[in-house]
Order: sequence, then structure tokens, then C-alpha cells
Amino acid sequence: MDDLAIETDRLSGQTVELCYHCHKCTAGCPVVEAMEYGPDRLLRMIVLGEREAILPSRDIWLCAGCFTCATRCPNDIDIAAVMDALRQVSVREGYPAGERDALLFHQLFLGVVQRLGRSHEAAMLGLFKVLSHTPLMNDVGAGVGLFLRGKVPVLPGRSGASKAVGAIFKESRSVDSQESDQP
Ligand code: SF4
Ligand code: SF4
Repeated sequence: MDDLAIETDRLSGQTVELCYHCHKCTAGCPVVEAMEYGPDRLLRMIVLGEREAILPSRDIWLCAGCFTCATRCPNDIDIAAVMDALRQVSVREGYPAGERDALLFHQLFLGVVQRLGRSHEAAMLGLFKVLSHTPLMNDVGAGVGLFLRGKVPVLPGRSGASKAVGAIFKESRSVDSQESDQP
């Protein structure tokens, strides 16, 4: 079995080799039109070890983690977890994210959750726009509507579970450093 398949299975807790390419995952994926390969083909490419095509691809960054594929899969393969694993390998091996600003978005999301113990859309959006050099006012109408309906709190509040969430981040960093120390 190829190294990438072994690593993906290990990191995701899945067995990508179980896929028999019924295409049900791809047929239900809401972002497949924007992908280069789609989830079903990507699994085949993992088994074939096509890492140079997979790791810089936009597909692994476009996956929204919606779990539609996992719920449709007759073999219970959680492709969202597989996509997570591929992103980890891609970042570790120094590939640029295949979709512009996707890595920045992930980093900001995790940074806000780590700090507050929860997501805060307004803080995320402001930081993302500034750091990605996106015009601040280009979709302000939608944002104002959400504020007015009380869907998005203006000020970030810390979750009561922020300590527990911080402990998860700490544990995760510890596992990462143990793995990177391994030969
Ligand atoms: S639904 Fe499952 S078995 Fe079918 S192609 Fe997708 S991953 Fe493979
Ligand atoms: S989890 Fe990702 S690959 Fe699966 S259906 Fe959702 S967007 Fe598509």
C-alpha cells in the first residue's frame, strides 16, 4: 500500500481502501462542481499514491466538512475526516493551499475558537478581510441584516467551556510535537 494511503488512514481513522467507487459521495457533495477531482476520485488517487496531484489540489481545501458524503457512503467512510488528514499532510509537507486564502481561514477560525472557546463570526470576518486584503464593504449588506436580526453578536464573548477547549488545543499540540519528533 502506498505511503499516502497509510498516512491518510492513520490520521483519519478511516480505511480508504474500502471504497468501491459507487459514486454516491460525489453525487451528493455540494461543492463538487468547484472541485478538480471530487471525493470519489480523490480516494482512488490516494490508493494509487498520486500525492503530487492530491496534496496541492484545491479539492482538499474546498471540502466544507458537511458530512453528506459520509452519510451516503455504504461503507461508512468519513471522507470529511480523510480531507482533514490530507490537509494536515499537505501543510506539513509545505504545499501551498490549493484554494486562495483557505489556510488563512482555517487558521483564523482555530485561533478565535482557541481564544474564546467558541466561534465568533464578526471577529472572524473582520480579521479575514483585513489579512486577505478583501474589500471591507463588499458584502456589508448581508452582515448588517444578520446583526439586526440578532444572528451575529457584535462583541465576542468567552464561552464557559473556554478552559476545556484550551486543554484540547494543548493536547493537540502535544500530540503534534510527539509525532514530529518521531523518526
Ligand atoms: S460513497 Fe463510499 S464507497 Fe461509494 S464512492 Fe464514495 S467513498 Fe467510495
Ligand atoms: S464533507 Fe466535503 S467531500 Fe464530503 S460532501 Fe461535504 S463538502 Fe463534499
